[in-house]
Amino acid sequence: MHEMVVAQSLLSAISAEAEKQNGKPLSARISCGMLNPVNDEVLCFAFEAIAKGTACEGLKLEVEHKPIQGRCKKCGEIFDLEISESNCRKCASEDFELLPDAPLLLEEIEFETE
Ligand SMILES: [Zn+2]
Repeated sequence: MHEMVVAQSLLSAISAEAEKQNGKPLSARISCGMLNPVNDEVLCFAFEAIAKGTACEGLKLEVEHKPIQGRCKKCGEIFDLEISESNCRKCASEDFELLPDAPLLLEEIEFETE
């Protein structure tokens, strides 16, 4: 299960950061590309299960899915691809290449403030 692997690496990354900050993490925001086969619900469920009894118990995970991007072969502009608008935003050329899907990233952790 892909989500379990992701949840495990998130848990260790967040735990390490919590130890450094000496605080209790409340929520974490992660992002990944649209093509990443991560299912938000399954990921949150998996995270909840393995976070039990750790500093991350009860932590809220937010997953942001980033759009696919294209790079114009004419002017080099990088833009978000949308189904309704698949040409360069700058020069309107339809000659572009697809950029690789965004990797899964831990964007931000919010800690309890005293
Ligand atoms: Zn262009």
